Amino acid sequence: MPHDAADQSRSNAPIRFWHARSWPIWEMPRHLVTSILLVELTTVGLIAVAVLARPLSSGDDLMRAGLLLALALAHTEGAMRVERTRRRIALPHYIDLSSVWIFAAALVLPPVLTVPIVIIVQFQIWLRTGRPRIPCYRNVFTTSTMVLAALGASLVSANISNGATFAGADIFAIVLALLCFTTINTALIAGAIAMSSPQPRLSTMVGHWDDNLLELSTLALGALVATALVINPWLVLLVLPPLLVLHRSVLVRELEQAASTDSKTGLLNAAAWHREAERELRKVTRKSDLRAVLVLDLDHFKMVNDTHGHVAGDHVLAAVADALRAEVRDQDLVGRFGGEEFVVLLAGLEHGERDLSVVAERIRRRVAGLRVEIPTADGPLTVAGLSVSVGGAVHPRDGADLRSLLQLADAALYTAKRAGRNVVRMSHDVPAKEHAVRPPLPGDVAEHTVDGQ
Ligand code: GH3
Ligand code: MG
Ligand code: MG
Repeated sequence: MPHDAADQSRSNAPIRFWHARSWPIWEMPRHLVTSILLVELTTVGLIAVAVLARPLSSGDDLMRAGLLLALALAHTEGAMRVERTRRRIALPHYIDLSSVWIFAAALVLPPVLTVPIVIIVQFQIWLRTGRPRIPCYRNVFTTSTMVLAALGASLVSANISNGATFAGADIFAIVLALLCFTTINTALIAGAIAMSSPQPRLSTMVGHWDDNLLELSTLALGALVATALVINPWLVLLVLPPLLVLHRSVLVRELEQAASTDSKTGLLNAAAWHREAERELRKVTRKSDLRAVLVLDLDHFKMVNDTHGHVAGDHVLAAVADALRAEVRDQDLVGRFGGEEFVVLLAGLEHGERDLSVVAERIRRRVAGLRVEIPTADGPLTVAGLSVSVGGAVHPRDGADLRSLLQLADAALYTAKRAGRNVVRMSHDVPAKEHAVRPPLPGDVAEHTVDGQ
């Protein structure tokens, strides 16, 4: 697949390859290092078995391998600029399109030729587009997952390369190989993400629907390349132009996604949240179709920054965002409004405010119980004792449009702050005279955001 967990942390210190102790891999938790090494050792073992079981068969294979490798290398060079930009955006899943060639190789070549192609192609991708953002150990792991996926696909489609044409049975084998390739790769990457994040979400582990669709399309293109190789190898050249165009359209989609995302928390940013929330409200056709808004503000967050520093503050914001996402349903819209303020649009509430209070209270309790572990040079630092104040308003009772809903939810948040913080307040708790405008809090500090939002 080519997907690979995007690099989040980048060390500025130069890495000396001959100085094994300085390798970034040792900064990871021990259980993760052990699992990665286990996957890599298994890969080496399986390569040996596969190569011995199916040695080189014909000169044709060598010619096909040479052509696939040349095209894969040309592909990486041709797409280099677009790929570097995609790496910079650093979405949680990076899908590289080289699996077109790797999957084709798995279908028509013996492992003794497929494995070197995977290794060379992956190394070139890392060298030309990944480095230095992606540390070498990540590339080795990605290569392992690709080799394992290719060996799996090769195993279930072992008979394809022997036939001169693709018959019905071969199409079945290709589909099976495609599923096998994508399953092995997704499972290994998902496992690595699950082990490296404290609270992994399924959508982060296996990627979004769009990512998986792109992955499947790439593999389908790989199957066409394999077919062309068998019929007339020169036909394969025709794949290169559409593939290079595909890179650009993927980049556009990813740029759009990045422009809607708050980089610190991965939530929707304020503009994107507004847009999506407006769209959600427009969808409401029946009165019984209830939506609601929660506005949340961390209490005394300035103290977290003052005590532990802004980097720790950023970790706390990310942990609160994860907690929020975990407490609402996937279809609910969670956004960061800026600073330490979050907002949620909830759908499908059966009992309106009663349900909303339950969700809000659950979030409040979860934030109060958070213990955020922050890695520092002097060992892990734990930040606890956090709290959040929450204000809520229900659509359409409290406002027909988003603006009036937010105004009332914000006034409820203000009421929660005045009630001593770490509490939930709903629109009906707001004194009538404050319904329109939120007055300043006593002792309110002018908000200054660190990231300029
Ligand atoms: P209150 O309970 O009244 O909400 O108090 P508070 O301290 O949370 O609110 P205040 O508005 O006084 O301070 C908000 C702080 O949030 C100040 C600002 O430095 C911090 N902040 C805003 N954005 C970020 C960010 O992106 N990262 C970090 N680390 N801090 C941020
Ligand atoms: Mg605050
Ligand atoms: Mg605030």
